[in-house]
Amino acid sequence: MKRSRRGILFILSAPSGAGKTTLSRAALQRIEGLEASVSLTTRKPREGESDGVDYRFVSPADFERVRREGGLAEWAEVFDAHYGTPREPLERAIATGRDLLLDIDIQGARQIWRRYPQDAVSVFVMPPSFADLEQRLRRRATEDEKAIRERLQRAWQEASAFPEYNYLIINVDRERSLGELACVVEAERLRVGRLRPEFVPWKR
Ligand code: 5GP
Repeated sequence: MKRSRRGILFILSAPSGAGKTTLSRAALQRIEGLEASVSLTTRKPREGESDGVDYRFVSPADFERVRREGGLAEWAEVFDAHYGTPREPLERAIATGRDLLLDIDIQGARQIWRRYPQDAVSVFVMPPSFADLEQRLRRRATEDEKAIRERLQRAWQEASAFPEYNYLIINVDRERSLGELACVVEAERLRVGRLRPEFVPWKR
């Protein structure tokens, strides 16, 4: 069924360690009508991740083929792996009025809001402090020291990109952040500019 408005692409970015994965999982479970955009990646699955749910895990050759055929709405290289958002599901969501959550980095975010300026809404999630971010990264400890250093360095750079985004959430408390994200989603859904031209709220 086609809704009265176009679908929205909610972009969620954050420096790694800001608590974005937890927030996006909670958002997908608890904000009604929000669906995940499942990215392609060439990195190996981590423990607990499953193919087709967290990512579609593909070989570098398959990734390159999809990219060359124009199958990606955006793509980027992050930590020596390739990541990309499949184009077709995203454009179908816009056309049918379904809202997607895109958990992507700044390089990808820029490509999405340039390509879909009317339909993308970007949200940046920031940890309350750099010390907090370091602590979270170390607690996670899925990486060795070198990888943690790299992530911290990158996080520092990424955090400086927040002014390019539409909204900023300082993630002090997950419930509060989720509430703020839900407000952004609700407000953006009400924008008159998203309504289809043929939409009439009521008839006399
Ligand atoms: P991770 O490997 O920890 O799951 O993700 C590493 C980074 O890649 C995160 O910042 C995540 O948001 C980003 N990422 C995940 N999927 C995509 C994607 O499809 N495109 C882009 N540009 N970045 C992505």
